[in-house]
Amino acid sequence: MADSRKNKNRCSFCGRTEDEVGFLITGMNGYICDSCATQAYEITQEALGAGKKASATKLNLKELPKPIEIKKFLDQYVIGQDDAKRFLSVSVYNHYKRLLQKDGGDDVEIEKSNIVMVGSTGTGKTLLARTIAKLLHVPFTIVDATVLTEAGYVGEDIESILTRLLQVADYNVPEAEQGIVFIDEIDKIARKGDNPSITRDVSGEGVQQGLLKLLEGSVVNVPPQGGRKHPDQKMIPVNTKNILFICGGAFDGIEKKIAQRLNTHVVGYSAVRNTAAIDKSNMMQYIAPQDLKSFGLIPEIIGRLPVLTYLNPLDRVALRSILTEPKNSIIKQYIKLFEMDNVKLTFEDAVFEYIVDKAVEYKLGARGLRSIVETIMMDAMFEIPSEQKENFVVTLDYAKHHLEKANMARLQST
Ligand code: ADP
Repeated sequence: MADSRKNKNRCSFCGRTEDEVGFLITGMNGYICDSCATQAYEITQEALGAGKKASATKLNLKELPKPIEIKKFLDQYVIGQDDAKRFLSVSVYNHYKRLLQKDGGDDVEIEKSNIVMVGSTGTGKTLLARTIAKLLHVPFTIVDATVLTEAGYVGEDIESILTRLLQVADYNVPEAEQGIVFIDEIDKIARKGDNPSITRDVSGEGVQQGLLKLLEGSVVNVPPQGGRKHPDQKMIPVNTKNILFICGGAFDGIEKKIAQRLNTHVVGYSAVRNTAAIDKSNMMQYIAPQDLKSFGLIPEIIGRLPVLTYLNPLDRVALRSILTEPKNSIIKQYIKLFEMDNVKLTFEDAVFEYIVDKAVEYKLGARGLRSIVETIMMDAMFEIPSEQKENFVVTLDYAKHHLEKANMARLQST
């Protein structure tokens, strides 16, 4: 027996003979059995995975899209807003250049360029930030500053901003540390200034103070599951030095502050608003950091948001373009949905005008376009998959009939 084992080939790893294993793979100077090969594979995978976890995706300057390329990419998804796109493209480019140059031997240190975008709701602030993150393949999260107001008041929860970023980065800390955070409704944490009747002053300013340390870059202990901190929870330290913060807000009424600063009279402004919308957008383009201060942001926060840009209100032409032009425009999405049922969906041009009319009429802006189209298409989406149709044309009559039939009150509340 001992002799018969002696002459048999053995796995060089576990020593078992070929009879004792499934099969042996022959190498130059030895053998490996099936189970050792499987284990070796698993070990390799684990080691590779761990290596990946420990480092962030390597950005490199050559591959980093140039500002003009970034803008071109944004153009595919976002209509108009040229100024905002240029500002964003440049500051995002500089931000990532800064990350790549951190080992430079000289004393010139490129400072962080967090961004603040001012513009009415639904003009594309979030879309811009989201699209940039898509281009750069970095973790991206959106947080609402209004949620922070309450929690910030009792001195917690600012860190929860980073919990979300960690979650989207799959808890890969180095990845998260190069991510982008979009803080929406930053204007809602403005100090309510001189108005003593509003009691949220302190909380607004408290949150702003809390945000400061995130914006300027520091190591923050982040609760991995978010929520309230409690003593036994294990915290994950995250350095915010290289996280790009993009803040957005409507800053309702800031045009008046701009006008005051420019010493321009806007008396009767609201009376002429409809006929002179162009003035409104012109006002916005003069926005300067001191207007944010007059609005109630503390100077320290403004200092940490050195790039300031604005978005124009969307006019009819822009709304019409949004409907069909972006790479994943609403209409293209519906055409695709129907295509999957082998139905060719087309629209009469007049339908687009009608949808824009309704969005303007109900003051729904770009956000409303989707709910209007959804309402028009609901019956068709319900019935057509079961019918043997090859084509479906949405005519103006069809659109009118279906939208009027729907509960407009429901639409108006969106
Ligand atoms: P904001 O953050 O300014 O409130 P969003 O970026 O969330 O607005 O816009 C809401 C929706 O409206 C977007 O998902 C998009 O479909 C549409 N939208 C708004 N502005 C634009 C734009 N300039 N170009 C294309 N789509 C837009």
